[in-house]
Amino acid sequence: MSQRKFTNPERFAIWKHHRAVCYWCGEPLRLLETTIDHFIPERVENNSEELEELRKRYGLASNFAINDYSNWLPCHDRCNNNQAVGNSRGSQLAPSHSEESWSKDLSAL
Ligand SMILES: [Zn+2]
Repeated sequence: MSQRKFTNPERFAIWKHHRAVCYWCGEPLRLLETTIDHFIPERVENNSEELEELRKRYGLASNFAINDYSNWLPCHDRCNNNQAVGNSRGSQLAPSHSEESWSKDLSAL
């Protein structure tokens, strides 16, 4: 369960960055129905061993942060918390965390 409240600009940036598609099911996603999920679950934030293992498994940057754009994914409410890392979709590719593409999207806000 996410503890973080997202602002509308944050939600918009995440939605736009992922081309208005639900990250988990791949279906089109309307901004109004967008919820934000975490690729690496927030509960790992205080477990540095598990975080380190997931970081290696998914090839994430060493400065990867749980609460940062690279870990936030847009999805349907019904898909949120349903597809977390570690279940059958565990082989899902890590989201793009190219700083360059993010700064482009964020500057458009
Ligand atoms: Zn979905």
